[in-house]
Amino acid sequence: MRVTMIGSGYVGLVSGACFAEFGHIVTCVDRDAGKIEALQKGKMPIYEPGLDEIVANNVRAERLFFTTQLKEAVTTADVVFIAVGTPSRRGDGHADLSYVHQAARDIAVAIEGYTVIVNKSTVPVGTGDTVERIIREMRSEAEFAIVSNPEFLREGAAINDFKRPDRIVIGTNDLRAQEVMRELYRPLYLNQSPLVVTNRRTAELIKYAANAFLATKITFINEIADLCEKVGANVQEVARGIGLDNRIGSKFLHAGPGYGGSCFPKDTLALVKTAQDADSPVRIVETVAAVNDVRKRAMGRKVIAACDGSVSGKTIAVLGLTFKPNTDDMRAAPSIDIIQALQDAGANIQAFDPEGIEQAKSVLENVIYARDAYSAISGADALVLVTEWDAFRALDLVRVKALLRSPIVVDLRNIYPPQELIRHGFRYVSVGRPEEVYHG
Ligand code: NAD
Repeated sequence: MRVTMIGSGYVGLVSGACFAEFGHIVTCVDRDAGKIEALQKGKMPIYEPGLDEIVANNVRAERLFFTTQLKEAVTTADVVFIAVGTPSRRGDGHADLSYVHQAARDIAVAIEGYTVIVNKSTVPVGTGDTVERIIREMRSEAEFAIVSNPEFLREGAAINDFKRPDRIVIGTNDLRAQEVMRELYRPLYLNQSPLVVTNRRTAELIKYAANAFLATKITFINEIADLCEKVGANVQEVARGIGLDNRIGSKFLHAGPGYGGSCFPKDTLALVKTAQDADSPVRIVETVAAVNDVRKRAMGRKVIAACDGSVSGKTIAVLGLTFKPNTDDMRAAPSIDIIQALQDAGANIQAFDPEGIEQAKSVLENVIYARDAYSAISGADALVLVTEWDAFRALDLVRVKALLRSPIVVDLRNIYPPQELIRHGFRYVSVGRPEEVYHG
């Protein structure tokens, strides 16, 4: 099958490379000429473990191509995916659908013969109808179907998630399009990945409901963590105690600095807006978004409190900038709010991230970027662990203590056992694990 991906970002590039791996002929299109030029030279525009290898293999096998020439790629395709960004619209939190609508117009002028147009971008309910209308108005004679096929991959584990998904959601009532989608996903279908075939609006809502639910779980445990600190309980043990209940499950119950990233913040807001417009508010999600929003800066205050109430003129070492490990994505990363809160209080920041520094430079100002974790720590008045990269899980604590001006560690991901840090002579502050608990 000939597949064209419009948008070659985290989702378009990973899905395109994986579809090529399934044996389809895939062309990834992007309007960013620099991105396409880099890809044609074998250089990945994003950091995603394993992506370079799978791209190289499929380029070599002549199943994967990159171009800025959308028209030709769409004309020859059986299936055209829309995988462009849907960021928050400035000012009101609705999803900004301008890239999706532009892609629809671009597709309309180019399609030839029966084409299945698949929306993989996360879009509000009814967007498939709008895309259909745009194309129909421009090309009344065209033969096409619009399908919703939301993507659930996680950055940092994207290839595995794509190849071994918990489920594949296909939203269309068009039987011919359903057959095309089954054929497209055949290798996964044969592997018994569950297929949820439903109507388009339901598929669109499934994606938002899934993200809102996960964001709620994170926010729930974060608030329980705050309560633990007040009442002398340990959130990790609470999470284990509730997570072992199959009805709850242990995932997404790690207390931390609040969720960030390219999906949860914008998708929760977009769902809130959709629900308000439909006169059916999702008040839980409204609260989740509001609670999470203030949490990130509150983590800055937590660091300040750990530094005896002031960071003015002090140097704070920040380890981990990306919104989670194994990605270079800085979109809505908690590190941004935390660092800005510390800077507003007069702190100087020395930071290190294994993959995110280039991206961080475009969103953070006045940060000294170190070449490794120990250089970031050197001479600092406190160390703050913001993102739980593996490289930060086993720091040489004797060296860390020697490098810090004062032995203060604020671990916003609970990656160290408190006793170990205390034994090494640190003042150790984590999330939802009050000092009294391990002081006995
Ligand atoms: P991204 O910003 O990394 O990539 C989007 C790409 O589309 C960009 O390279 C941009 O240049 C390109 N583009 C925009 N308009 C175009 C056009 N008309 N023609 C050609 N190229 C165009 O975005 P992403 O993270 O891949 O997200 C894409 C969508 O998938 C979003 O709706 C997002 O919510 C959803 N999603 C993302 C993830 C994730 O982990 N990043 C997971 C699931 C779903």
